[in-house]
Amino acid sequence: MCYVNDFCSYFAKRSPTKFVQIVHPLSTIFVLAGIVYFFSVQMFFIAPKVYKGMGYMLYWILAIFITHNILGNWLACYRTSSSVESLPKEAQVPVPEEEHLWRFCDTCKKLMPPRSWHCGLCKCCILRRDHHCIFTSTCIGHNNQRYFLWFLFHLSFALVVSLVTFCIYLNRTHCNTLLYPEMYSHFLLYFICDAQPDKSKESLFETVAYLLIFLAGLMPGFMLAYQIQILCLNATYNQIYELVYDLGFLRNCKVIMGQRGLWTFISPLLKSPLPHDGTKWEMKKESN
Ligand SMILES: [Zn+2]
Ligand SMILES: [Zn+2]
Repeated sequence: MCYVNDFCSYFAKRSPTKFVQIVHPLSTIFVLAGIVYFFSVQMFFIAPKVYKGMGYMLYWILAIFITHNILGNWLACYRTSSSVESLPKEAQVPVPEEEHLWRFCDTCKKLMPPRSWHCGLCKCCILRRDHHCIFTSTCIGHNNQRYFLWFLFHLSFALVVSLVTFCIYLNRTHCNTLLYPEMYSHFLLYFICDAQPDKSKESLFETVAYLLIFLAGLMPGFMLAYQIQILCLNATYNQIYELVYDLGFLRNCKVIMGQRGLWTFISPLLKSPLPHDGTKWEMKKESN
């Protein structure tokens, strides 16, 4: 489970069905509301004051590209199942010579392929299970890790671009001070001392928008750092230091992202078939 789910794991384990019924819709609303908020503030309030003419048009093209990737990868991640049941029936049982590599799932009462783990929230075994993500309402595994990684990448990229644009905006409107320290004092005065500083409405809007961009960037940023490490090592979130499947960066990229490797950052619509169905895993020593 990811760090957010670690925090929630006690509740998830006590009542998985209720947890899913409550947390998944709330997380979906949280993600969508966040995207709408940041897009609106950036594109309709900040960007017009920073970029003009062709620059503003290029910024719109960049914003559409990033938003397409955030929403598309988020949706594709949710819609692409990595469960063992997503395999054809004949692939759900091992061939005799590989039976010793498969492990028994005590919950499903059947054998599961190597690197698969049971998920108590999805109530099934997941191929090369990474973790259960509450923000995509699904397990991240063999078939959808590509979408999850690019969802995090484009989300983090969007927040960095937003932060840079916001700093340029503040720099132009507030005496060439890049980080505009006054905003923090205004923020504290407004909320703690209940005082009304000068230009309070504008300052408060700027302060809240700036802090939200900064704080919102931390969560996908941390998770992306984990996912990059996972990509580099062909590991999983729960076994991040497991190096036996590390086939080298380029081959790891193809194993996780499919034939087109890192080019899949262009769009979730880009077809990139995975090299296998998630039941047979080449190990490092076998490749040497
Ligand atoms: Zn299972
Ligand atoms: Zn799950």
